[in-house]
Amino acid sequence: MKKVVKFGGSSLASAEQFKKVGEIIRADKSRRFVVPSAPGKRFSADIKVTDMLYDCYAAAEQGENFDEKLSAIKERYEEIISGLGLSLSLEGEFGEIAENFGKKAGKEYAASRGEFLNGRVMAEYLGYAFVDAAEVIRFCEDGSFDEGETDRLLHERLSQYECAVIPGFYGAMADGTVKTFSRGGSDITGSLVARAIHADIYENWTDVSGFLVTDPRIVENPQVIASITYKELRELAYMGATVLHEDAIFPVRKEGIPINIRNTNRPQDRGTMIVESTCKKPKFTITGIAGKKGFCSIYLEKSMMNSEIGFCRKVLQVFEDEGISIEHMPSGIDTMTVFVHQDEFEEKEQRVIAGIHRAVKPDFLELEADLGLIAVVGRGMKSARGTAGRIFSALAHANVNVKMIDQGSSEQNIIIGVENRDFEAAIKAIYDIFVNTQL
Ligand code: ASP
Repeated sequence: MKKVVKFGGSSLASAEQFKKVGEIIRADKSRRFVVPSAPGKRFSADIKVTDMLYDCYAAAEQGENFDEKLSAIKERYEEIISGLGLSLSLEGEFGEIAENFGKKAGKEYAASRGEFLNGRVMAEYLGYAFVDAAEVIRFCEDGSFDEGETDRLLHERLSQYECAVIPGFYGAMADGTVKTFSRGGSDITGSLVARAIHADIYENWTDVSGFLVTDPRIVENPQVIASITYKELRELAYMGATVLHEDAIFPVRKEGIPINIRNTNRPQDRGTMIVESTCKKPKFTITGIAGKKGFCSIYLEKSMMNSEIGFCRKVLQVFEDEGISIEHMPSGIDTMTVFVHQDEFEEKEQRVIAGIHRAVKPDFLELEADLGLIAVVGRGMKSARGTAGRIFSALAHANVNVKMIDQGSSEQNIIIGVENRDFEAAIKAIYDIFVNTQL
């Protein structure tokens, strides 16, 4: 059995957190490949090492003195090293970093040092080999990620080790120029390593006990989702549920490797299993509820619209020409509505209106702003009767006016449009009817 374990920044923010991580790894011999993030926040007002590095490098780039900023970063590591009782010295590494900052080695190089250094500490603490991600995670010359070459390099290199630490978040081009993924990208490294070594499971350790059925800022103490499919996760993540970097799903998904989201502070919790497919029924018919505010709708009416071939295409062309992406597009017999992100749309609205008039000459056009979209997602909905009925009666009871309904053709999601001000009440009502009232 081979497991890849990735630990997020809050799991590695201090020596105390490192010790928990050490215990987790030592508790299971199959936890052989470890992907650490950079030290995160120790308390809510704290600053992540990655952000300290960005800040320090910005000073270096401006030609300012950055000694103090770099010393503060060094102190974070020294505190961890001494708290763990290690004799490791990072003097050499910090000397090299200062030199490279002076030579303006780049923002991505700067940010990557958080993981690089934490990887060194972790390897020393565990007695595992250290594999520099710059040697095994490859980016192309144009800066895009080189998936094929990365898989080959990782596989070749990691098969030489029984156990190894591979820092997350960064890699390099063939000429050695360091590149990073987007923020939170250590999740992607973990997934790439899991695929390359054909892991049985990819454990992603963080500070929550898995994916929650809905946003804890809206519903107090929501239940944890025990198992979720990649597809469901994608739908929920798209609508704002975040625990895992979006791009972390693809490498393991291709290989059918499950991801287990676990809590470093509560290792006894089983967390959430993210799988390709499962026979296990979701506990509450629905798997999760997520949503986003800040949409607006463009409503069009034209008699005989439905028999006018190419009508929709002409309308959509106007949005495409303006570079606006479309979120949803429910339609009626002589009506059609287009949902877009308000912030993308606002500054272009008059051009879009004029474009639509020119393209299809509608009888009536109306804009509505400040709308929220809520996705109710669940593989269990396909086989359960009355799901939509339950949702809408719950919303009616909560006095929420539903502006739009769109059931995805996968029958795994229902999207509901409401006014921004009804957004929280709507999510609470849906959670309540499925989770609290009828288990
Ligand atoms: N340390 C990086 C960040 O703060 C990457 C990561 O933690 O995954 O975004």
